[in-house]
Formats: sequence, C-alpha cells, structure tokens
Amino acid sequence: MGHRILLVEDERRIADFLLRGLAEEGYVVEHAGDGPAGALALEQGGWDLVLLDWWLPGEDGIDLLKRFRGRDRVTPVLFLTARDAVAERVQGLDAGANDYLCKPFAFEELLARIRALLRRPEEKGGFILEQLGIRADLGTQRVVRAGVSVDLTAKEFTLLCLFLRNPGRVLSRTLIFDSVWGDQYDGLSNTIEVHVKELRRKLEVHGPRVIQTRRGRGYVLESEPCDGDDQ
Ligand code: CA
Repeated sequence: MGHRILLVEDERRIADFLLRGLAEEGYVVEHAGDGPAGALALEQGGWDLVLLDWWLPGEDGIDLLKRFRGRDRVTPVLFLTARDAVAERVQGLDAGANDYLCKPFAFEELLARIRALLRRPEEKGGFILEQLGIRADLGTQRVVRAGVSVDLTAKEFTLLCLFLRNPGRVLSRTLIFDSVWGDQYDGLSNTIEVHVKELRRKLEVHGPRVIQTRRGRGYVLESEPCDGDDQ
C-alpha cells in the first residue's frame, strides 16, 4: 500500500500539481487548503509524511508544526517555504521540521526528499544485510529471498548473517563454529554440516545455491559453485 501523505497548501495551482504528481508516484495524498483544515487533518493522524506550507490562511504552518510536534515527534514533516530565507528555515527546523524545500522547487527534488524521509530507520542505520538477492533484517530477524519470506531458526539466521557479512570469503569450520556457537570446533561434530544443509534447503526453494563448499577449507557465499562442491 502506498504511503499516506498529508499536503497542507493553500495555493490551488501548486496543490493540484502536487496531488496529481504524487498520486502518479503511488502515494496516497490528502489535501488541506488552509490552517484550520491542516490542524484538523494533523489531529486525525495516521500520516506517513506531512508536506506543510509556511504561509497559510487561518493559521501559519509553523504554528501547526509546533502543536503537532507537541504530541508527535516521529512523523516526518517537510516544510515548503516561499522564500529562501535562512531565518525562516532555521525557525522551521527548530520547530521540528525534518527538512525543507524552497519554492519554486523541482518535482524530482521533492520526490527525492520524500523518499529519504520515508526510508525506514533500519535502512538508514545499516541493520539490513543483503547479498546475492538475499536480504536479512537484523531488527526483525526476517529473511527475504526473491521477494519471499524465508523462515529460519535463530541459529540458521546467525549462520546466514555470518555469510552475508563475508561475501566471497571462505569461512573455515573453526571460524563458523566460534562465530555461531561461541564454542571451539572439535573437528568431529557435524553440527555445521547439518545447519548448512538446512539453510541451503530453505534458501534454495527461492533460487540457486549461494553457500558453496570448499572441500577441506570450509564454506563461501558465492553464486558460482566449484569442483569441490558437494551436497
Ligand atoms: Ca501559502
């Protein structure tokens, strides 16, 4: 489902242009045409992002923002200012705006700012590991391959993350055992083999093998198998 954007803007021409353009980009946009209508829509909540004009009939955007930030510090707000005045921008950011754009602005730039503000915190903070089309979210412990969720046990997840952090590097059994089980590898246990086999089975439902065996050396995350690969 598209992100829900609230547009508070009194200039009909700009509002119409943005409503049409953002809808074409897949956003669900609602429009408030003056201060009081904006205040009402902000109170209703449920927005993923707010585009807020500075000068509005009835009540200024800056006052709407201050009240909104009194109860919601999370929802991103992008200020639209008419003038490129430093004092105004600083005032807007101080009041809790996440970003601003000066009119007139290029629509492409607005889209880029919106995308940046809507990016989820884990995507900004590097809590996502992704290699060869396999994506692991360290926050939710969710794994996705080819758009499909892959159900892993906690140990399988830890093992996969070790591979995703070291693409193309051959990982010895000693290193894997130490990293995933926090224990010394006795050279006999087949724990690693069992877990690699199960991890492969689950991943290969959605694509080709990516965890390759390097006989006598260990395992490597790579798209290409090699001669020594076995089951
Ligand atoms: Ca205005």
